[in-house]
Amino acid sequence: MLWSKIQDTYAKAMESGAAKGIITSEAVEAEGSLGVEVVVRIAEALEDKPTKPERAESGQVVNPFLPYDEALWVQHLSNTHTLLLNKYNLVEHHTIVVTREFQSQDEPLTSADLTATRAVIDAMPYGGLAYFNHGPDSGKSQAHKHVQVVPLPLSREVDSPVPLQDVLDETLQGEPLGTACEMLKLPYRAYACRVDPKFSPEDLEVAYHELMRLAGVDHDPGQDLKPSYGWLLTRSWMMIVPRSAAEYQGIGANAISYAGTIFIKRPELQHILRNEGPLQVLAKMAYPW
Ligand code: AMP
Repeated sequence: MLWSKIQDTYAKAMESGAAKGIITSEAVEAEGSLGVEVVVRIAEALEDKPTKPERAESGQVVNPFLPYDEALWVQHLSNTHTLLLNKYNLVEHHTIVVTREFQSQDEPLTSADLTATRAVIDAMPYGGLAYFNHGPDSGKSQAHKHVQVVPLPLSREVDSPVPLQDVLDETLQGEPLGTACEMLKLPYRAYACRVDPKFSPEDLEVAYHELMRLAGVDHDPGQDLKPSYGWLLTRSWMMIVPRSAAEYQGIGANAISYAGTIFIKRPELQHILRNEGPLQVLAKMAYPW
């Protein structure tokens, strides 16, 4: 079973040091304006985690996913995709779906990407959260196509699968499956739709393209100018947040942050979240309505 393979590989990789847990503590920051709580995780080892692809002595960019570290390999998911553990895990059992041959992270997701991703979401006991950072301002660090999947719930600190679940539920209540909606309660442009666990990969692809169109981030494969956005998927919803910057005052964000978990490298950075409000900080790296 895929979930037990993920658990076994994770236990061995953590023991051997091939994978590293990087969260040192967790706190909850209330977002008064919406009555939700955002989880703040302090990950001091984020300082050591590369934010750009590493280079070999020859100067050539190292692709960590081709070849991948065998100690992080879980199993092949299809002829086109394989599953790895994230070397620097933000949560236990943090996985990465990668293409077996090089494809660019700046190309849109395909139904083959969605098929492989959904298999991992479905294998996790309470379902998984998948996220994809696309484009130069999305917070991505690797050029080889990859979608990350983490088990839900995202945090023990909040009583829902993801901290922003209530905002999603309010936005999507009563909406037909696959219909893209604006999440107008948020202080930045974000779009979501309901999905069904029974959706085929093609249904997911249609929903993804509809969200991209509404968010204004759709583009033709191969097009030079790459829009930046974060994409998220669970068994019941899909979300897109167009991104304007990867970092604000030393706080970086990528797609997972827009589910309501913000990772900071140093405890001192927490005062920025407290002074400005966590969602306002996320808004600085996205676009206003
Ligand atoms: P992103 O930063 O969104 O491009 O995601 C790339 C992910 O790859 C990061 O979360 C890294 O922690 C992870 N990563 C970096 N090097 C490796 C590696 N050698 N094997 C597996 N995962 C890695």
